[in-house]
Amino acid sequence: MFEVKAVDKGSAAERAGILAGDIIVSVNGEALLDYVDYISFCAHKNFKARVLRNRKALTLHSRKDEHEDIGLVFTRPLLGKKSVCSNRCVFCFVDQLPRGMRKSLYVKDEDWRYSLIMGNYVTMSTISKAEISRLMRRKASPLYISVHTVDERQRRIMLGNQSALPIRPLLRRLARRGICFHTQAVICPGFNDGKRLFDTYRFLRGLYPSALSLAVVPVGLTGHREGLCSLLPVTPQMARETIKEVEKWQQECLNGIGTRFVFAADEYYIRAGLDLPSAEHYEGFSQIENGVGLMAQFLDEAKEAFLSCTGKGAHASIVTGEDAYPYIKTLADKAVNECGARLHVYAAKNDTFSGGVSVSGLLGGHDILRAVSGKALGEKLLISASALRADNVFLDGMTLGALSAALGVPVLPVADGYAFVQSLCEEKQKE
Ligand code: SF4
Repeated sequence: MFEVKAVDKGSAAERAGILAGDIIVSVNGEALLDYVDYISFCAHKNFKARVLRNRKALTLHSRKDEHEDIGLVFTRPLLGKKSVCSNRCVFCFVDQLPRGMRKSLYVKDEDWRYSLIMGNYVTMSTISKAEISRLMRRKASPLYISVHTVDERQRRIMLGNQSALPIRPLLRRLARRGICFHTQAVICPGFNDGKRLFDTYRFLRGLYPSALSLAVVPVGLTGHREGLCSLLPVTPQMARETIKEVEKWQQECLNGIGTRFVFAADEYYIRAGLDLPSAEHYEGFSQIENGVGLMAQFLDEAKEAFLSCTGKGAHASIVTGEDAYPYIKTLADKAVNECGARLHVYAAKNDTFSGGVSVSGLLGGHDILRAVSGKALGEKLLISASALRADNVFLDGMTLGALSAALGVPVLPVADGYAFVQSLCEEKQKE
């Protein structure tokens, strides 16, 4: 039950007569458990609330437009704490974090509500019957579901959870109820690749259009795996074979259902030493948060931004992860040629995570500092904004301000290809 802190002027709640201090017991005959319920209730034309006022139960109602906000502000957050996961996945990145990082990074969340709202991946391996039924009633779509493999026995092994709910019946049931979901398979060689990956693709494709896409992502291995299950990395040869298969399935899907449906993460192409597909290949970038099409989108944005450059470039430096270096170097060369920029491009080795981690988004502030200390930096240093948390702190705890102070130049986080080019080349004035 939630206590009302304030009621928006002119809202459905005000028209119904709800007051600050009222306790909302139920809306339209159902308990209000969280933000997902609240948004779902906002979708209805009727607003009928059961409230407690000075210990007296009242029923208040009003008419509203479909999707009009009810207009209630509560005394506590509607989402509350995330549910945490009880799996012990063999590849879990949280288990591979170095010690001493900020506490929140060690939290293993598994909450379908955050999957719906933020696009976080969930395994649905321990979801209760009541929550399945609630998410179906709330038409929670799209969800982001970590399938990994549809071989149930193998999935339980990968999740380190012998009581994980079977995934096939759950996905079929969601599909029958019209719930849509994006899916992923984190590939651990020997566990869920080869024939098992084919079976996973085939099963999920069979659930299209409820299953919207499948991202094939290579396992990320850090240098902090002491005491954990031994895992093989995805080698360049494996990456080439996987891409070959994925591209074959994409063609099949394009012919059969009009979408590529299955996509390999950027890391596969980088590891395989193959050219990245163009931006169009990713059909709207629905799995971009999963590193699928990230680089293609960045390059595409930069290409567009170059069109409005004046030809006057900055003297600056850029630091990237080892993966992105060749692409960023090519872009920087273009900025040198087209805008006359003077640029220094550096690749930073990831000593924070070590192992095979080479993406820009997981660089620590100290990695960047080590990579560029004593080197030519020009007037500013560009870094990937994805390496920073919301409060401008790197994963290793260094702040953006501290990095800037240590280097003696402004450090600019760059979120996309437009910002990248705009930071390096002066823009034409708009008429
Ligand atoms: S579901 Fe697996 S990978 Fe995700 S947090 Fe839990 S243990 Fe880690």
